[in-house]
Amino acid sequence: MSKRLLLLLLLSALGSAPALAQPRLVLQITVDQLRGDLPWRHMDQFGKGGFRYLADKGVWFTSAAYQHANTETIVGHASLATGTVPAVHGMVGNIWFDRDSNELVYNIEDSRYSLLSADAGVDKAREIDPTQRVATTDGRSPRGMLSSTFSDELANRYGGASKIFGVSVKDRGAVPLAGRSGKAFWFSKSSGNFVTSDFYYNAYPDWVAEWNGAGKLNEYAGNSWTLLNSPESYQRLSEDNSPWETDFPGFNRTFPHSWGARDDKYFTTLLTVSPAGDELTLDFVKALVNAEDLGQDEIPDFLSVSFSSTDYIGHLFGSSSLEMEDNLLRLDRILAELLSFIDKKVGLENTLIVLSADHGGPEVPGYLRSLGDHVEHVDPEYFDTAALNKALRQTLGVDVDLVKTFLDQQLIAAKGLDLAEIQREVVQLLIQRPEVFTAFAGSDIAAGLLPDNPIAKMAAANYLLQRSGDVHVVFGSQEFIADFDGLTVAATHGSPWHYDRHVPIVFAGNGVKPARVSRAVTPYDIASTMANILEIEEPSGSVGEVLVEVVQPLKTR
Ligand SMILES: [Zn+2]
Repeated sequence: MSKRLLLLLLLSALGSAPALAQPRLVLQITVDQLRGDLPWRHMDQFGKGGFRYLADKGVWFTSAAYQHANTETIVGHASLATGTVPAVHGMVGNIWFDRDSNELVYNIEDSRYSLLSADAGVDKAREIDPTQRVATTDGRSPRGMLSSTFSDELANRYGGASKIFGVSVKDRGAVPLAGRSGKAFWFSKSSGNFVTSDFYYNAYPDWVAEWNGAGKLNEYAGNSWTLLNSPESYQRLSEDNSPWETDFPGFNRTFPHSWGARDDKYFTTLLTVSPAGDELTLDFVKALVNAEDLGQDEIPDFLSVSFSSTDYIGHLFGSSSLEMEDNLLRLDRILAELLSFIDKKVGLENTLIVLSADHGGPEVPGYLRSLGDHVEHVDPEYFDTAALNKALRQTLGVDVDLVKTFLDQQLIAAKGLDLAEIQREVVQLLIQRPEVFTAFAGSDIAAGLLPDNPIAKMAAANYLLQRSGDVHVVFGSQEFIADFDGLTVAATHGSPWHYDRHVPIVFAGNGVKPARVSRAVTPYDIASTMANILEIEEPSGSVGEVLVEVVQPLKTR
């Protein structure tokens, strides 16, 4: 007898069937880089079943913001999964410096767990993603996360009988929410397949092999991303050919954006930097729900879907581009299709829907200048290793380079220097630059020697001694480095400014009564709210507060 069947029999034998408000499925949707205001800009242009369904039928929190300083993809996804800040869940940045190996580490990289596909390595196709600029091993697992997830607690409550899945184009969008107890799938640009690692499976389930073999990507070969609606219906039509947009060869700054031929080197990459990436994610998710029979009985299942296209398009073209506008209209259609599909399979009355984002995003400096502002991209030249070493040699009178990737602690000790003092020296050097808003020495954060202001608190909420860097630098509002490894992109998030921390939070389905809530809340509240509705333990590091506007109408016991 299967574990799941046994548990169902036990539940009914004991007469302790879950209360009416228990969903059969928890569907957690994350839109990468969806700043909190963006859906509202375009609400009148959306259809009925996507964002407008969520706005009309759900509880929408319009003033939700993260309270950590590094607003990056892994940090946000792990915070959504664990209901806590990076100082507790440990995912302090997309990359960090591992002091044992003296190497940069990519968040969910784990050489103990190889990918199941030999041809799915991450470095064979160049990533158009400024945050993934470190060479990583192919191995992936959630073991670098230091506290439990909502999905782990669900597995715990139902003795492993809940079916738990995380899907995204990005590995770091899929792995955190699946937790240690679920299964994760992500898109490999080098193989053009959805893949996983042997942390999760020893071999692909048949349905995954079938999806990968079906040639879904061929539909895009030789085609282009075109406008969904008639040009005059767009707010940002005049913004299509802006000089600050990334002019990626062959893809161009203006519509139509060509994906190229199936065997072009960048074909799969260009799919991901357009709404096609989200369409492929949706298609894979449908196959998953069908094959795994999610939401078909009283034991609640969990499905996390993270849509990545909005992030790539924000980086390449900016939040106020025509590309972003068309992407959001297409994302709205994808959400509508996903909800309609889940309605037919499970019923939205049996599905707790949660939508949020891993972080927001800035405006492009060039766009702001066109409105009269004076901001510029930050010139990385002043902040690289050579510049810092030169300055430290002068101010400290030392004859060696103290900065490698981070401060060379062994060398500093050998020279009889004090690490904290040198970190503070670097802070003093950095804050002389006009584009630096503030900077904190790691030792001061660790010792609690920070000024009493909100940005310092957010740096501390992001700090973990074993993983964080020597100095936390905060550039000015709307200022950021957008040049990585020679590829200049339009915009980069990752700051503690509000536009990078502001995300939507929406709960819908499963009997949730509609409301629009403007009080300040945080995305850490999501996991504790979900746990409360499902009457399970909160994740081990949870610091969130239950969102009462969601839970009150559900009281059934
Ligand atoms: Zn991003």
